[in-house]
Amino acid sequence: MTVRVFDPLCVDMATFAKEAGETAGTWPLAALDRLCGEAHIDAKPATGEQVEWRATGESRACRGGETQIWLHLECRARLGLVCQRCLQPVDTAVDAQRSFQFVANEALAAEIDAGSEEDVLALSRTLNLIELIEDELLLALPLVPRHATCPQPLKPPDNTEPFEERANPFAVLGELKQKSLPN
Ligand SMILES: [Zn+2]
Repeated sequence: MTVRVFDPLCVDMATFAKEAGETAGTWPLAALDRLCGEAHIDAKPATGEQVEWRATGESRACRGGETQIWLHLECRARLGLVCQRCLQPVDTAVDAQRSFQFVANEALAAEIDAGSEEDVLALSRTLNLIELIEDELLLALPLVPRHATCPQPLKPPDNTEPFEERANPFAVLGELKQKSLPN
């Protein structure tokens, strides 16, 4: 039995579907630039942090003897996003699960995609699975990431210091009046 070496950067989707391929793996999170761009500046993914994924190919028989090419994808990662309340990093689990149908070309993909709830992609000789995984994780990011309870209260803006520390404007006015009065 030969073991097929599976390169997620270069998947022959037609063969993967025909063979009902199943594969799972991990990929360094730090290598996904677009996704890492969403992370907090103090919480960029460290070496060793991984995206986990699983991909399954399916050749689906349909009426007329034709077969459809399908890819079922699951992926998950953890990312330190920017909390929209306290602006500190918030550790967020991001996961996505989606099925894609592959068709002969872009025009057909656009046509079918418009009338379908599934995602339809054009079949290319080599599919970059990692790029597709990154797209899915980006789509799965929360719109407004935030802590359930923020670790630190928000620092008050500079113009709202405690009242006592500011000079009383009426006292200042009084001083000015006294200075301008003739003795
Ligand atoms: Zn927060």
